Amino acid sequence: MTPQSKQRVLVVEDEKINRTVLVALLKDEYQVILAKTGEQALERLAADDQIDLVLLDVLMPDMDGYEVLRRIKSNDATREIPVIFLTALNSTNDEEKGLRLGASDYIGKPFSPAIVKARVSNLARFVRQRKLLETLAGRDGLTEIPNRRAFDQALLQEIARSLRNGQNLSLALIDVDFFKQYNDHYGHAAGDNSLKLVAKTIAEALRRPNDLAARYGGEEFAVILPDSDAAGGQEVAESIRRRVRELGIEHTQSGAAPEVTVSIGGITVTGRQGSAEELLVAADRQLYAAKQQGRNRIRWADLTSG
Ligand code: GH3
Ligand code: MG
Ligand code: MG
Ligand code: MG
Repeated sequence: MTPQSKQRVLVVEDEKINRTVLVALLKDEYQVILAKTGEQALERLAADDQIDLVLLDVLMPDMDGYEVLRRIKSNDATREIPVIFLTALNSTNDEEKGLRLGASDYIGKPFSPAIVKARVSNLARFVRQRKLLETLAGRDGLTEIPNRRAFDQALLQEIARSLRNGQNLSLALIDVDFFKQYNDHYGHAAGDNSLKLVAKTIAEALRRPNDLAARYGGEEFAVILPDSDAAGGQEVAESIRRRVRELGIEHTQSGAAPEVTVSIGGITVTGRQGSAEELLVAADRQLYAAKQQGRNRIRWADLTSG
């Protein structure tokens, strides 16, 4: 996701005319996703983890808005997404009920276009700020381990340290195997849960206080192992590979194993052996080889004697 891309708003509304009006109101500023029923809304949320905000009709046949809200708020993957209730029920009771269930705001029907725009815009700004805070804090919002920004900083520090003290530095990139197929088969929400488990497992495999595991992006992770030689680095990598497989997360669509697995590419260098970017390229080359050779394996280059 680039910072410039439009925020995504899910509009859940059973009446066509209202959907049409809301799309017309919001489409210039947001990417609008539509659902006609509560069930469809939950499906859209399960399939798309980039939804920033939900506009939710209360009165709908089958599953009503209260039930949809209850489910959104009881699911870890969606509970942080702000929901605006849209309803003709204008009594304070309903307003109170919605807010008590965790709705962030409430718009009465018939709605004023200016109010819809203003309330959506306020919450959209709130979501942007929360994401920015997460980034600045160095934490990945989904997995809660350090993010790419924290990783980049740590890598620069460790390269500088290894230059000063002449010690080894090991670096590994970890990529989940056949993860697109996993999402396609089990759904995005299950994919998110697996990523959380894999992240936790990688972090737990590290031994030393200065070792760092981060989410590098998507289904890729990275670890920095300061003062670790190639044998030590490979040992940690093997422990990560084994622990992830031993999580036993079923993956019938994987070409590598019946469970979720990772491929790992790593390198070991000593001082003066390249910029952060060059080291990452070298590790990525090893990762590529691990993928080519069948996945669920480690390829490692000891570059210390070069
Ligand atoms: P390979 O074994 O070659 O790595 O295959 P792959 O399918 O893992 O690789 P590819 O790069 O084709 O697909 C990566 C997939 O990871 C696609 C994308 O939907 C998924 N993914 C990336 N980030 C997330 C996320 O935050 N949540 C979920 N659920 N899926 C994600
Ligand atoms: Mg309705
Ligand atoms: Mg990948
Ligand atoms: Mg992958």
